Amino acid sequence: MKTEIIAVGTELLSLSFRDTNSLFLTDELDGLGLSVSFRTQVGDDPSDLRRAVRAALGRSRLIIATGGLGPTTDDRTREVFAAALGRHLVFEAAILARIRERFGRRGLAVPPSNRKQCYVIEGAQVLENPNGTAPGLWLETSRHRIALLPGPPRELEPMFRKEVRPRLAALAAGRTLVRRVLRLTGLGESSMESRIKALYGGIPEGVSVTTLACPGDLSIHLTYEGRAGRPQAESLLGGVQRRLESRLGPWVY
Ligand code: AMP
Ligand code: MG
Repeated sequence: MKTEIIAVGTELLSLSFRDTNSLFLTDELDGLGLSVSFRTQVGDDPSDLRRAVRAALGRSRLIIATGGLGPTTDDRTREVFAAALGRHLVFEAAILARIRERFGRRGLAVPPSNRKQCYVIEGAQVLENPNGTAPGLWLETSRHRIALLPGPPRELEPMFRKEVRPRLAALAAGRTLVRRVLRLTGLGESSMESRIKALYGGIPEGVSVTTLACPGDLSIHLTYEGRAGRPQAESLLGGVQRRLESRLGPWVY
């Protein structure tokens, strides 16, 4: 299942903010056996966001977006997804009641701008946010599974663990993702490649081999992704690892 993360926010494209949510989500998805095929960072500009969302809908089945669910005018994730999916936004009084209660605890009235957080994409399930006003949304269509999550990590992380992970675990049942890394030194990238080239034809189905090089340090990343159980996946990777080591042994550390 092609999986994509969209991190929304102009600040993420500057040097001052880091898109740590995408890393958190990648780690979580990996743990569930769902490898990420695309990670998009896009600013708040509505036409850029529309393009990013349309591209994701066209190429990915599982889409997790973060950011842009706040009360301000530049927060447009909800609206852009609704339009791209051809769905209406529906006002949910229960969300307003929760936001009212949250502000009420501090003796404040709900600012008018927060009303936009009470709109839900038709058919979506609301993901509660105990740490902020922006609820998340979970949406299932015939083709897609979509989660819209708030940007602040202290809101996104607990929401993901409590609300999204169990839904994805059901979706990912039976899938296995295992990675191994071989590190090498003292060998050039091309010499390494010429020593192992002949092995590529015999790589078992589900296993991928990627080589990475920087001066003085090489690594070979082995990944198994598929429906074999974990012991079988480990054994497939172990077999590939042994064949690589038989040709690269002196340089592997
Ligand atoms: P937003 O939900 O777009 O209103 O984002 C609110 C705040 O969450 C931003 O000002 C950032 O500090 C933080 N934030 C948003 N997106 C991310 C991200 N991808 N990674 C880490 N922090 C983020
Ligand atoms: Mg934002």
